[in-house]
Amino acid sequence: MASTSFIREINADQFQTEVLDAELAIVDFYSDECPPCEVLATKFEPLSELYGPKVKFIKIFRQKNRELATALGVTGSPTLLFYKNGKPVGEKLAGGILRSRIIKNLDSLLPAEEVKAIHGKIQQKDTEADVLIIGGGPAGLTAGIYLAQAHLKTIIVDTALPGGYVATTHQVSNFPGFIAPLNGYMLSHQMTEQAKANGVEFRAAVELDEVDIETKSVRVDGFETIQAKKMILATGSKPKELGVPGEREYQGHGISYCATCDAKYYNDKDVVVIGGGNSAVEESLFIAKFARSVTIIHRSSHLRANKEAIAQVHAEPKIRLLLDHEVTEIKKYAAYDMGVVIRNNQGDVTEEVKTHGVFIFIGFIPNTEHFCECLRTDKWGYIEADNQMRTNVPGVYSAGDVNAKLYRQITTAVSDGTIAAISITKEIS
Ligand SMILES: Cc1cc2nc3c(=O)[nH]c(=O)nc-3n(C[C@H](O)[C@H](O)[C@H](O)COP(=O)(O)OP(=O)(O)OC[C@H]3O[C@@H](n4cnc5c(N)ncnc54)[C@H](O)[C@@H]3O)c2cc1C
Repeated sequence: MASTSFIREINADQFQTEVLDAELAIVDFYSDECPPCEVLATKFEPLSELYGPKVKFIKIFRQKNRELATALGVTGSPTLLFYKNGKPVGEKLAGGILRSRIIKNLDSLLPAEEVKAIHGKIQQKDTEADVLIIGGGPAGLTAGIYLAQAHLKTIIVDTALPGGYVATTHQVSNFPGFIAPLNGYMLSHQMTEQAKANGVEFRAAVELDEVDIETKSVRVDGFETIQAKKMILATGSKPKELGVPGEREYQGHGISYCATCDAKYYNDKDVVVIGGGNSAVEESLFIAKFARSVTIIHRSSHLRANKEAIAQVHAEPKIRLLLDHEVTEIKKYAAYDMGVVIRNNQGDVTEEVKTHGVFIFIGFIPNTEHFCECLRTDKWGYIEADNQMRTNVPGVYSAGDVNAKLYRQITTAVSDGTIAAISITKEIS
């Protein structure tokens, strides 16, 4: 069936007539050379076929319409805005935007019977691939590059934007091939583009509805089932939570797990870092570039990081250590007004450290919640793979930080991805 796009590109002069005078409109502010904008484009077009012409699908090039974007509070690309009879409605969506979030906002603009009719038109899609990779970090991307170069149809599915953890690392200085330290985002961007250039297909910022390891298939975004001959699990790991009152409540609202993403918001402010390993120590040094003070709270009597980083922490006058203390609660009174309740290790003294914001770096747990219990894991839940990256489930491989192993680095993830891909290539041919 020929595709009928209802998308219209406009500039700021046409905003009044095309958006504000329309009954219903969705507006995509996009930019050039913007990977998340490309990801959104793969969702915007099919949705325009479903919801258009009832809803006007509008695109505005942000770089050339900055004044309008700024006036509307649009500070990044892509940003999606929804309008009903000239008034902004619904959520302002930005970054790696999920299809379901767009649908939810579009549905809220329409009467229930129209929504039902539109949903009835959504066609189910079956896709076949040689290899399905779950997770597009360094491990998954490297595997993808090798597999695509071996002419195997490879699809990478990622619940976020591809790139993995590296994308949030401010500087990488130990990945071979680059004399000067490079920005983590750029490294992951280059890996992603290399995978694309070699022919890897992506399903990015998708919702994973179902993963069947044994049949090597997944269902994404409620309408596409992808079935493959082989599968690689490369979902990495995520930061551990402290599990104290207040943590869940204030995540993203004063509590962060990513210094690269959020340290910039603490210019000249007082920050608490919880943890005492490599991440806590290295990220504290980074946060100290912005903050007025950084207090590292750690439950043990000494830091467990590499010696060089510990020496740097001791030499940094902005950083103070509060060792032998356990955090029992995180409180928030107002924006940039928080309290971290701590107890000494004897358990007899409780006090509250006042702070503008809290960063938590206490370790990681593997992203395996979508996978069945049929996978063999170590006692921490990391997947056990053999030296060819084969798991105990036939045809299913695993690579990178999700694996049980001693060292978790970009180079070791890239190595696992390489081994998995070469093993699969040999097996398939
Ligand atoms: C703060 C910090 C700094 C670091 N600095 C360095 C450094 O300087 N040098 C170095 O070598 N290493 C560094 N590391 C470690 C390095 O980032 C990791 O070892 C590496 O990213 C692991 O790659 P990966 O592909 O296994 O996993 P990840 O990079 O974690 O990628 C996993 C991908 O899977 C996706 N995913 C997760 N769950 C699902 C799911 N259910 N379905 C689909 N997709 C999913 C994620 O969105 C992500 O894109 C750092 C780590 C941190 C946290």
